[in-house]
Order: sequence, then structure tokens, then C-alpha cells
Amino acid sequence: MENEKVTIIGSGPAGLAAAIYTARAGLNPLVIGGSPYGGQLMLTTEVENFPGFPTIMGPELIETMRKQVKGLNVRIIDQNITSIDFSKKPFTLGYLDKTITTDAVIIATGAKALWLGLESETRLRGKGVSACATCDGFFFKGKDVAVVGGGDTAMEEALTLTKFASKVYLIHRRSEFRASKIMGERVKSHKNIEVILDTQITEVVGENKVEGIKAQNIKTHESRDIKLDGVFVAIGHKPDTELFKNAIKLDEAGYILTNAMLAERIMLGKEPSGAFKPTKDHCYYGTATSVEGVFAAGDCVDHVYRQAATAAGLGVSAALDAERWLEA
Ligand SMILES: Cc1cc2nc3c(=O)[nH]c(=O)nc-3n(C[C@H](O)[C@H](O)[C@H](O)COP(=O)(O)OP(=O)(O)OC[C@H]3O[C@@H](n4cnc5c(N)ncnc54)[C@H](O)[C@@H]3O)c2cc1C
Repeated sequence: MENEKVTIIGSGPAGLAAAIYTARAGLNPLVIGGSPYGGQLMLTTEVENFPGFPTIMGPELIETMRKQVKGLNVRIIDQNITSIDFSKKPFTLGYLDKTITTDAVIIATGAKALWLGLESETRLRGKGVSACATCDGFFFKGKDVAVVGGGDTAMEEALTLTKFASKVYLIHRRSEFRASKIMGERVKSHKNIEVILDTQITEVVGENKVEGIKAQNIKTHESRDIKLDGVFVAIGHKPDTELFKNAIKLDEAGYILTNAMLAERIMLGKEPSGAFKPTKDHCYYGTATSVEGVFAAGDCVDHVYRQAATAAGLGVSAALDAERWLEA
């Protein structure tokens, strides 16, 4: 197999946006798109916040992007990369019994939302069960919803939902939140949020859409039925970065540390101010990882925004960074 200039791992919005830009830059990218391909949007129904598409089903949005990518003669292989070697150049990537060598890599392997694991929750996903208030809150105008979780994300989801829903139940299985004090206080003092502690959801009720939940107090074992229209699971996300953990720097939650994320960490005091590595050509590469020539984009990097449009935007940045780096 010939050496590749740039190989993109992942075919969600970040990987596909990177493919469009690197293809149009004449880099003839190879996309190893994952199996199943397409990423998180393949798991959802209506998407109403991707610019240019007032309303579109998630899988249809991905198929539209793939068509655009294939129209640029990009090769897409829907397999998972299972081995990597970033210790020498060109880099090596492996899938099935194949080996690819490549000068630059763009990692866009995304993340997975964590779910409660109830059969009823899986069945009603996209029919009232969601993992993203920014994405789906709009569909719950004037309705009652529940948020499950006790961390900062759950607090943010609950507060976001108060802009749409008439009542938000915040259900947490412990007696205290893990969230920062200030976020917890904001939630507790909000007039439209009812906090229910020491409680877990045992069933999401409804045939074709969410109609309520069964919630059980862990200490007293008492059960109660709550009528509502939506359940937002906010118990965390897991970036798909296991494969890279010994090769590039990740943060404590497994997100890939790029220069842009280092800047965030320096700002928050989590990293010393001199944490950046100067580059040979004195250019700023926001998507560069700890290994020169390896770039990363999308939800595998971004634990803050986690949207299809922001993932695509980061994919574009990674493509432009890879192009400039290859030229330099
Ligand atoms: C239920 C749900 C609903 C959502 N609704 C919206 C919405 O309405 N609007 C919105 O803007 N956002 C929404 N989001 C968020 C949005 O889907 C993500 O922010 C976006 O998909 C992130 O894109 P990505 O390309 O970074 O990663 P992903 O979409 O996660 O794609 C990752 C890709 O990497 C591949 N991959 C992983 N490991 C490997 C490997 N080892 N080798 C090769 N490939 C690999 C996967 O197969 C996949 O193709 C939703 C998310 C969920 C879960």
C-alpha cells in the first residue's frame, strides 16, 4: 500500500468535515470511518440546529455529508483502526490484517453518551429520551421533563431545560451532588426545578413516546410514578480514545489534549502557563496533539460544546492545521 499524506480516523461530522477540506486541498485523504460508521448522529432522530438544514433526521444528515465527501473522490473504509504506532514517522495504523502508513493523522473518533442501561430507556431513545438538552430541549416547550445525574453536566442540562420546560425534576441517586457548589445552589434555588435525591429511575414509561417514569428511593425502597414527557440522561460521556492512551496525552477523563484544550486548562489553572510546545514554524496549531503530525477534532477532544456543528468546525480546523503542517 502507498504511503498516505493524511489519514482521518472517524466518520462523524468532525471526520467528514476534515475529509472535505483535506480533499479540496489536494491531499487525497483516506478516511477509516469506523464500524458502525457515522457516529452519534446515526442514533438520533430530528436535528434542527445544524446550519443549512432547518430540520433533518440525524442519519440523513450523515448520508448527505458522506455523499459530499465521496463526490470529492475520497476513499472511505468503514472499519475500526485497532492498532497504532505514533513513535516513528511515517505513522502506522492497522485494521483487520491491513497496515497503513501515513504522514499525518486526524483523530475524530468521537464520544459515547453514557446511558442508564434500562430496556425502556433504549426503546424510547429519540422518542422523549435524550442525552442532550441543547439539542433536544426545544422539543419540550411547556412540558415536564426529568434530568438524571448529579454532576455539573446534569446541573447545566437542568438549567438549560428550564428555558423550555414548565417543570424539571432533577433525579440523583446519591444524597449530595458531585457538581460544583455554585451550580448545585443554582439548581436547588430554581423555582421550576424539583430536586429528588437518593433516587433512581427504574423504568421509563410509555409505548411509543415517554409518558412518565417510575422512580425508587434507594434508602426507603419506596416507588413513585411521575408523569412527564422527556427524560434527559446526564451521567457522563466517554470519549473513544482508549486506543491512543499510550501514544498521545489525554486528560484525566480520557479526552485528547490538543493545544486549544491546553489553553483552556492553563486558563483554569489546571496546567502551568508554559505547557505549550513551541512549533518549528511558529504557527499556531489549535488541533495539534502531543505528537507532532497527529491532530484531533470533535467530541474526542471537546468535553464542553459537543455539538455536530462544533465537531464539524473542529474537523475543519484539524484539516487546515494538517495541511499547513504538511506544507511546512
Ligand atoms: C442521541 C444524540 C442526539 C444528538 N442530537 C444532536 C443534535 O440534535 N444536534 C447536534 O448538534 N448534536 C447532537 N448530538 C451531538 C452530536 O451527535 C455530536 O456532537 C457529534 O456527532 C460529534 O461528532 P464527532 O465527529 O466528533 O464524533 P461522532 O459523531 O461520535 O463520530 C465518531 C466516529 O468515529 C468512529 N470511530 C470510533 N472509534 C474508531 C476507530 N477505532 N477506528 C475508526 N473509527 C472509529 C465512529 O465509528 C464514528 O464514525 C447528539 C448526540 C446524541 C448521542
